[in-house]
Amino acid sequence: MAKKTVKDIDLKDKKVLVRVDFNVPLKDGVITDDTRIKAALPTIKYVLDNGGKAILFSHLGRVKTEEDKAGKSLAPVAKRLGELLGKEVTFVPETRGEALEVAVANLKDGEVVVVENTRFEDIDGKKESKNDPELGKYWASLGDIFVNDAFGTAHRAHASNVGIASTGIPTVAGFLMEKEIQFIGDAIAEPKRPMVAILGGAKVSDKIGVIKNLIPVADKILIGGGMTYTFYTAKGMTIGNSLVELDKVELAKELLEEAGDKIVLGVDVIATSEFSNDTPREVISGNIPDGLMALDIGPETVKLFSGILQDAKTVIWNGPMGVFEFSNFANGTIGVCEAIANLTDATTIIGGGDSAAAAEQLGFADKFSHISTGGGASLELLEGKTLPGLAAINDK
Ligand code: ADP
Ligand code: MG
Repeated sequence: MAKKTVKDIDLKDKKVLVRVDFNVPLKDGVITDDTRIKAALPTIKYVLDNGGKAILFSHLGRVKTEEDKAGKSLAPVAKRLGELLGKEVTFVPETRGEALEVAVANLKDGEVVVVENTRFEDIDGKKESKNDPELGKYWASLGDIFVNDAFGTAHRAHASNVGIASTGIPTVAGFLMEKEIQFIGDAIAEPKRPMVAILGGAKVSDKIGVIKNLIPVADKILIGGGMTYTFYTAKGMTIGNSLVELDKVELAKELLEEAGDKIVLGVDVIATSEFSNDTPREVISGNIPDGLMALDIGPETVKLFSGILQDAKTVIWNGPMGVFEFSNFANGTIGVCEAIANLTDATTIIGGGDSAAAAEQLGFADKFSHISTGGGASLELLEGKTLPGLAAINDK
């Protein structure tokens, strides 16, 4: 899966179209978290430092109607980017037309243009999100090189990623994209062993593709979170009022059979009577009685999982072990994070939006080798799917 990156191409005097991920949270026109803008800086700076002119594209939120545009302009992002870069950034409040073309024509080496929210093109027939070929062609016509650094949208074929690339314009990965491909791609294609996957979260149905893809790859698959109880049901155990997907019980049986002893289920849970942080809790081993719902893995399971993790050389974690949003049911997720944090010689990866949020919230984010920035995109990579945005980048 070796893809060309910005380092493999001559940027001098080139108009470089860069698809970044500036999909930042905004409140009343103010950016509440600029992590994504900062994360895009290395690629943007590299382009500028190597003599390129940068034309930046990004979406921001969802835009379906004219009214949706309110508060979704990239203007505040362009302003913040200028502050972070310490240089003038030209913002074009259009996604096409003369103003944009003039701004691009006037660019000198080392200068930056930010184009308005690509999804403003969705109002009139979803041109961006449905990858309208004319739109991709038009954007591609503005530049000489295309750099795709937006991993979070790589699982979607949009005009601003696949559309531009498929015109044949030289297309390379930015540094963020490169990192994602390297970490997740390598962990699946050639993992250092033992490779342990920890899968949790709410639903089996969300993770079927991941489990299936990882059975032949992983040495162990530890299952926690809400999906545990569909597996419990498949084994003929009782689960009280715990989360279950009855239409996935047969499939869970098949997965257990296929995986043999690779799949490891928890042996105990923390259960309570209501979906609440404050109702009394008890540790239950084995069958869960009527009237109780399991909201976290139990202490013996944390020990079991930690023991297996202790030898791991590659860890992929997708899905919290319990309802970590409730402090009383966060211990399972904390325990697993601690076990991973103790590994000194392992590649440890989080793929999954809520898992990343959990690691962040619980204070373990800096203990991982890589936290994927794309929830949906990383899930699809873990499922072994071909991501259209990735596929459209030129091979080395
Ligand atoms: P990710 O985004 O990392 O892939 P998911 O979206 O699959 O994770 O799942 C995260 C959600 O799963 C969390 O909001 C968490 O509260 C929920 N969850 C975990 N364990 C349970 C459980 N036992 N019962 C109900 N919900 C659970
Ligand atoms: Mg999620």
